[in-house]
Amino acid sequence: MDMHASMDMQAIVDEALSHAETYRGHGEVTDYIPALSKVDPNKLGIAVALRDGSTYVAGDADELFSIQSISKVFTLSLALQRVGPAIWNFVGKEPSGSPFNSIVQLEAEEGKPRNPLINPGAIVVCDQLIGDRNADAAVDELLQFLAERSGEDHIRIDEQVALSESQYGFLNRSLANFVAAFGNIKNPVEEVLSVYFRQCSISMSCRQLARAALYLACDGTDCSTGDAIILPTRARRINALMLTCGHYDNSGDFAFRIGLPGKSGVGGGILTTVPGVGAVAVWSPGLNAAGTSLAGAMALEKLVESTGWSIFV
Ligand code: GLN
Repeated sequence: MDMHASMDMQAIVDEALSHAETYRGHGEVTDYIPALSKVDPNKLGIAVALRDGSTYVAGDADELFSIQSISKVFTLSLALQRVGPAIWNFVGKEPSGSPFNSIVQLEAEEGKPRNPLINPGAIVVCDQLIGDRNADAAVDELLQFLAERSGEDHIRIDEQVALSESQYGFLNRSLANFVAAFGNIKNPVEEVLSVYFRQCSISMSCRQLARAALYLACDGTDCSTGDAIILPTRARRINALMLTCGHYDNSGDFAFRIGLPGKSGVGGGILTTVPGVGAVAVWSPGLNAAGTSLAGAMALEKLVESTGWSIFV
């Protein structure tokens, strides 16, 4: 796994991007959140952050985009630290095999979402992150965490996207109310949703995302200082959930092709961790049917082929 020391990382990153070129602009740009439908489908970027602090980028890696469901990985990290294993009383750990906004399993499973990376699961995690505070405190904690982890002064929410998410959030509102009907959400539903919509509307670049996720590749520590960020067991479990559930009903295909823990977002971003090595973020807005970036996944496939970074090697 220390192969990267002898590799020309910049050449590998450039090659991954040019491999994905053929797919630039392919797939569907999200339109059920109107503010996201205006994004240029031809954007394509990649960033690799390694545990030694070096970062390699290509294409639109420094442009901000809507991280959408990638945020679920970070809220889960914070909620787990806050609540501990009791969180698993409210949300499961199994892949759903269903779309991110599916309501069908919720009825049979009495309002306990399958996992924290589908929408109802992430909404439950938001409720746990709020706890006995108010919604703004939870959002502030998340933004502060992301700024610290990515080494930026500020990470911001795109308020237009947040408004659009809320205005057209009919399904997410239904999911949240459905879960609340089973007593699995403690705070007022609208307050919980306000955290969920805002976390999805955070704007970050590939470079910022890759750097922010490094703790997941370093057993829960800050790779450069060794400071504990989250417990090592939790980092491992979040990686496990990303591998099995990070792309909804596309998780098996992603593990098959790329073999890394990952999380997709309908803004076209994909974040992957390479345990012990680093983190990779790609962005291209055209999505496949499950909401995973088409060109982004192609770039990752090439990167993994060149580096041997699949965890199944
Ligand atoms: N904000 C989106 C939603 O709730 C997030 C979905 C995603 O990125 N997969 O529908």
